[in-house]
Amino acid sequence: MGGIRFTNMMKNYGLFINNEWVKSDKEEQESVVNPANEMEIATIQKGGVGDTRAAIDAAREAFDKGEWPKLSPASRAEFILRLSRYVEEDIIKFGETELANTGKPVKQVVDYDVAYTIDNLRFFAGAARLIDGVAAKEYVTDGTSILRREPVGVVAAITPWNYPLMMIAWRAIPAIAAGNTVVVKPASYTPMTTLELAKAVKDAGIPKGVFNVVTGPGKTVGEELARNDKVDMIAFTGSNEVGKRISGIASATVKRLSLELGGKAPFIVFEDADLDAATEGAVVGAFVNNGQDCSAATRIYVQEGIYDKFKALYIEKIRKIRVGSPTDPKTDLGPLISTDHLKRVRSYIELGKKEGEVLYEGNNDDFRSGYFTRPVVFGTENNRARIVQEEIFGPVPVMLKFNTYAEAIEKANDVVYGLGSSVWTRDVRTAMMAAKDLRFGTVWINDHVPIPSEMPWSPMKRSGFGASTSKYSLEEFTTLKHVYVDLTGAARKSWYYQVYGEK
Ligand code: NAD
Repeated sequence: MGGIRFTNMMKNYGLFINNEWVKSDKEEQESVVNPANEMEIATIQKGGVGDTRAAIDAAREAFDKGEWPKLSPASRAEFILRLSRYVEEDIIKFGETELANTGKPVKQVVDYDVAYTIDNLRFFAGAARLIDGVAAKEYVTDGTSILRREPVGVVAAITPWNYPLMMIAWRAIPAIAAGNTVVVKPASYTPMTTLELAKAVKDAGIPKGVFNVVTGPGKTVGEELARNDKVDMIAFTGSNEVGKRISGIASATVKRLSLELGGKAPFIVFEDADLDAATEGAVVGAFVNNGQDCSAATRIYVQEGIYDKFKALYIEKIRKIRVGSPTDPKTDLGPLISTDHLKRVRSYIELGKKEGEVLYEGNNDDFRSGYFTRPVVFGTENNRARIVQEEIFGPVPVMLKFNTYAEAIEKANDVVYGLGSSVWTRDVRTAMMAAKDLRFGTVWINDHVPIPSEMPWSPMKRSGFGASTSKYSLEEFTTLKHVYVDLTGAARKSWYYQVYGEK
């Protein structure tokens, strides 16, 4: 981990279209800022509709006329493996860039964000070779049916700021692994590692037009991707508000959608749980990525008999969280992503003071610059309070009590979201019942957060639909084709009389 520091070299990025770096047609630029010290660290192109169309045309051409969709899965896998090796060789550069652009602590960017992204890339490379249809069969006696899985076409991958590199790996790489071509639109706060990945795409020899990046405002670039009839599919990860807007626009051209939206994960602790493990897990679960995580354990439900003990131990552990410079290997939490987001989190903290009781509040006085804030923990008995129901996306968990198993499940499920959830108990039956009864795409038992590349991150309810990670993610980016082959060789098949003539 040694050697990581803030990248103080100012970077100027172009748009990445057809494996070339180009300026936006209006030659407008935007600044990228380090959230830990508010310094400008890069400029990006403020892409417009014309730029987006150019990138879509490049992806369309590469899909319709290029070699990429026709390559063998093994060849595509080899390109993606090569890409993973470039990222691995440059792990320090990717780590430094992600650190400067997001303010994430050094131990997180290197040991988790970039390392896990490399694992995702390797997995998707291997999974590209496993795409298949079901075995051929005679479902009617006169013919054989064959199922083909084919790429969907041109995919637009629109990604959020909270895990910039990883979200590109989740949304764009399975798409290209399955033979599609992509236009990527990263979040404007955090485009840098996506643009660095584009350099690696070129170095890895991935053909032109397969992977294109257009930076710029969601309203222009993102909406053109959703609107343009040359785009076949939108893979979107982000907020519910924008997800709904994209769905509306994309419906006009009947695009395939994969939506990974917000979350408000319950963390349910039963009386028989290992308290040390559960409190440890609740710190990690709630404060992962400073709470800017769609799976963050933001609703901590604790059974009445152990509530006070749990609360005391939980807060004792939260006091030990070290907020500070992301470059310090000892830092646990860096800043939030932006001044706007800091305002939003602080407004929820003010709301929480009206809706609930403050169980713990860190002191925010000692930050001279950067978008820093400290953890706040609320307690409430009102499951319908806005701080319980809405995504705050900051280090602000809420604790609630429950009595019975049924009450725990009812309260946990009483939210529009359905991404991650966890259950803490030593009882196998309780754990397995909860795994069945919780309406969330992931249920962790005695842990919170792990998502192996092999397993789907798959939302329920208004958290969206589809799957990121796993072989199911590759299936998302394919479409089924039925091929029927007549076996009779007869001019007049046995069923033709139904349309004309006699049996
Ligand atoms: P966001 O919805 O504001 O932005 C996401 C992306 O959409 C950005 O690239 C943005 O520029 C673009 N965009 C904005 N307006 C657009 C429009 N009108 N049309 C098209 N594109 C537009 O989300 P965010 O603030 O970047 O990210 C935080 C959100 O992402 C949270 O809600 C979080 O829960 C969610 N998230 C979900 C997952 C998941 O796997 N389900 C993972 C990470 C983040």
